[in-house]
Amino acid sequence: MELEQIYDMLVIGGGPGGYTAAIYAGRAGLSVLLLEQLGPGGQMGTTQHIDNYPGFPDGADGFDLAEKMQRQAGQFGAQTRLEPVTELKLKGAVKEAHTPFGVYRGRTVVIATGASPRKLGLPEEEAFVGKGISYCATCDGMFYRNKTVAVIGGGNSAVEEALYLSKLCEKVYLIHRRDTLRADKAGELAIKRQENIIPVWNSAVAGLNGDPDTGKLASLTLRDTKTDATRVLECQGVFVSIGRVPNTQLVEGLLDLDKQGYLVADETTCTSLPGVFAVGDVRQKPLRQIITAAADGAVAAHFAREFAG
Ligand code: NAP
Repeated sequence: MELEQIYDMLVIGGGPGGYTAAIYAGRAGLSVLLLEQLGPGGQMGTTQHIDNYPGFPDGADGFDLAEKMQRQAGQFGAQTRLEPVTELKLKGAVKEAHTPFGVYRGRTVVIATGASPRKLGLPEEEAFVGKGISYCATCDGMFYRNKTVAVIGGGNSAVEEALYLSKLCEKVYLIHRRDTLRADKAGELAIKRQENIIPVWNSAVAGLNGDPDTGKLASLTLRDTKTDATRVLECQGVFVSIGRVPNTQLVEGLLDLDKQGYLVADETTCTSLPGVFAVGDVRQKPLRQIITAAADGAVAAHFAREFAG
């Protein structure tokens, strides 16, 4: 159990928001410990091609950018530990982050836990994860080379997933619950141009059906959202892309959340408790992007420095 050091800042989560807070705080002379459960980058780390982050005219690889952010934070003295935080104590002058390996103490805490893919909510969904169900085409698309897959959703992310998979797979169904996409015009046109992407309108996934021999996904049961009629669509992979939910399990009951479950904090990133800041996708905000997460991190470090004195 580590109990001796009190850090100026504990950062929970190693995406662009968390690492930017660590860079700015470290550079301002604060002692910083960043706790991350998997590896640097968060959602950004699984994005292969980022073409809207300023300064990268040829695009940036998300994993590479994440690794560089971690290195940059380290250059300013911020430490990273790959340990899952299991409990936070956020009241009082000294706050605590508990992991299976120790208790870390800090004068300020930056919550940068991001968001996770929304699930379909079907009872059998969990059992098919890794056996046909995925939430990330750039992570798992290669397992479905030359196969038939389906992408669920109608937003920009679903369109990007479908376009990515269309280069690998024989056929990509894009299954949306309405008959118009939420995605922007450019995405809609790109879908129309790609012959092996087949839109399936007014359809919701009502069931996931396995192959009795392999246990892997073999087909979907679709429900027509207008007529309620059901039909079966054969496919070996399903990529669910129906939005995200904020990762706030650690702070439920500790900090104010809005109706959608996002942490309540304005542009100062200050939450309902003094010395606790919320940055990136976990915070209520109009636009969730790498650059807005990074901007939050810089702002949080500024106010944390003021708070820590
Ligand atoms: P989103 O824009 O919220 O779209 C979610 C989609 O999933 C919607 O089409 C929605 O249908 C559908 N959906 C939601 N719940 C569902 C359910 N239970 N069952 C079936 N379908 C469901 O989410 P996103 O695509 O992940 O994008 C998130 C944000 O990032 C957006 O602001 C987006 O513009 C942005 N983004 C931007 C880019 C880019 O600029 N290149 C790329 C990716 C994402 P309805 O349309 O019927 O509500």
